[in-house]
Amino acid sequence: MRVALRAAALATAMLAPAASAQVIASGTIPDAAAEAAPVAAAASADARTVFPASVPQGAMVIGKVPPGSVVRYGGRQLRVTAYGSVVFGVGRDASGTLSIEVQPPGGAPQRAGIAVTPRDFPTEYINGVPPKTVNPPPEIAARIEREQAQVTAARARDDERPDFAQPFQWPVQGRISGRFGNQRVYNGKKGSGHSGMDIAAPTGTPVKAPAAGVITFAAPDLYLTGGTVLLDHGHGVSSTFLHLSRIDAKVGDRIAQGQVIGAVGATGRATGPHLHWGMNWFDVRIDPLLVLERAKAAP
Ligand SMILES: [Zn+2]
Repeated sequence: MRVALRAAALATAMLAPAASAQVIASGTIPDAAAEAAPVAAAASADARTVFPASVPQGAMVIGKVPPGSVVRYGGRQLRVTAYGSVVFGVGRDASGTLSIEVQPPGGAPQRAGIAVTPRDFPTEYINGVPPKTVNPPPEIAARIEREQAQVTAARARDDERPDFAQPFQWPVQGRISGRFGNQRVYNGKKGSGHSGMDIAAPTGTPVKAPAAGVITFAAPDLYLTGGTVLLDHGHGVSSTFLHLSRIDAKVGDRIAQGQVIGAVGATGRATGPHLHWGMNWFDVRIDPLLVLERAKAAP
């Protein structure tokens, strides 16, 4: 599927048709290999602008722009790798057409539009959750707020490492026991959409880094999420691992893909042992399963 990219109105008259950028399907964006050798890739990188024509809600979107471009999306200026890769996340409730502004070095400004494909998020009823975690008393509510603020602060980091471009791997093998975005009802009380994916596995199962990164947060006993670890994959993309029974890494550790960072548990608000794996682009929650499927689709 090819869709012509709309150049900014002022620039259209000056832009030769051959120079028009294109939006093409996502499977053709060659990031992982290119990012492995960014210097060589930069030397041979072409000047195309490439984004998927459409993405589902909850997607991690990786695009390609001419190296050195200034790229704006969602009120942010996106980091651009030496090769010209950019990444951003699309929220569970995003809709319509996303707009990305690209200013190539010395070229006319461009605007890429990406259509958001809606998904169906069913409701899950979860009973038997400890009542004090569903309706916490005020002093506990204050603690939860404090802990969540620390996690939110860790997700604000914007590192230049392009670890996000690696094909992601499952952190543990197991049945998916909870899907991203599903509306949760705890003991009959409506919660928010499920912020990640749950994988059922026995307590003590090693949790392996799905992609390389740096540990930006590690705490053994947060009130709601128990043993909690954040792994930063660069450019605002991070993974969150919850309910861990053990943590094998500390803040600042550089982690390789596949390295053990902790073990599955049932700490915090959990009805049984499982790994909750969340992914974010800054404060935007994205679906790890889509990130895994993207890796599977890569050549
Ligand atoms: Zn979960």
